[in-house]
Amino acid sequence: MAVRTYKFNDTTQLSPHFNVKEFKCKCGGSHDILISDELVDKLENLYAKLNCSKIIITSGYRCSNHDKNVGGSGTGQHTKGNAADTCCYGQDGKPISSKIVCCAAQDIGFSGIANITTAYQYTHVDVRSGSKWYGDETKGNSSVTSDFYTYFGTKKESDSMEMKGIDVSVHNGVIDWNKVKAAGIQFAILRAGYGRVASQKDKQFENNYAGAKAAGIPVGAYWYSYAVTPDEARLEAQVCLEILKGKQFEFPIFFDQEEKKTLDTGKANCSAMIRAFCEVLEKAGYWVGLYTSRSCLSTHIEDDIKTRYAIWAAEWASKLNYSGSVGIWQYSSKGKINGISGDVDLDTAYVDYPTSVKKAGLNGFAKQTAEPTTTTKTEPNKTVTVSVQIGDEIYKGTLTKS
Ligand SMILES: [Zn+2]
Ligand SMILES: [Zn+2]
Repeated sequence: MAVRTYKFNDTTQLSPHFNVKEFKCKCGGSHDILISDELVDKLENLYAKLNCSKIIITSGYRCSNHDKNVGGSGTGQHTKGNAADTCCYGQDGKPISSKIVCCAAQDIGFSGIANITTAYQYTHVDVRSGSKWYGDETKGNSSVTSDFYTYFGTKKESDSMEMKGIDVSVHNGVIDWNKVKAAGIQFAILRAGYGRVASQKDKQFENNYAGAKAAGIPVGAYWYSYAVTPDEARLEAQVCLEILKGKQFEFPIFFDQEEKKTLDTGKANCSAMIRAFCEVLEKAGYWVGLYTSRSCLSTHIEDDIKTRYAIWAAEWASKLNYSGSVGIWQYSSKGKINGISGDVDLDTAYVDYPTSVKKAGLNGFAKQTAEPTTTTKTEPNKTVTVSVQIGDEIYKGTLTKS
């Protein structure tokens, strides 16, 4: 990927969260700015992976003189447009520890990474070619480790189940799902439609389903309800089923109850409508759930529902103020994700739905048995063709089975 040259006063938006001006040399001179495309791409990935509220670049491009003035050699990665010193902020508005940032940067594949300060608030990242440099500038300029997880004693993210996701509808326009995948999004909940008329299928549902699947992003769906009686909710469920038919969903199907007219009918009726909708979908073999606001969970939903169905709660805040357990938290409606123009809803999943859904054979998946019946037995030492998903990459090739 290219390293580009920009004029000193350029203000081009390079990606959803980074502008040329943030990389400008801090010497104050009016000289050009060099910025690597790969650096910006990886910074976006870092932003998504850490669920940042912002990343401040304290030093991007440096001319040779400035690099020397701040203690560099005058020929380092900053002078090539390959590096950025960053402070990454979490959703709580506080800097994320550089120990966590270094580990995330390592996962993303930055080739130069270092903690900068003893307070562990600033992290240098770069996309140098050649050998890696994993440093800790509080300990000098040499490489300190080949694995930051071991070096800092931090836990791998995969140790705890948390997936980053989005939910989308026709209002998000046409989405570039490959870019969304590259931005680190691990699941998407798609609006299938609304109300109780089949023509009210979401206009982008088919596109979104096909695009997300092709990009390898697990999906769920939601149905926006206008029902005011349980009978109407049942009719909505029938229409929803028609639209889901023939597709596979790794995540539950959610009944979206938030319309004012609906909520005005009160707690008992709202709860009855949820049960009515969910019962129809469950009978058809779906894992169902409820999408609602955190406040409605306490004011409009009877207790049995909160444990009976998957709960997807919305609260646009740095913290979910709910003592019960939820499967998914929608924490923002103002997300910026590569591949989607405008704001998008952001979610975190705490339950490994894909594994459970497939295991149970729900949502269009065939039930998995201990010994998959579709596998043909291979003789020892036979060459077989395999297709294995390793991380984001699909390995296709032949293996000699021994
Ligand atoms: Zn300069
Ligand atoms: Zn640096």
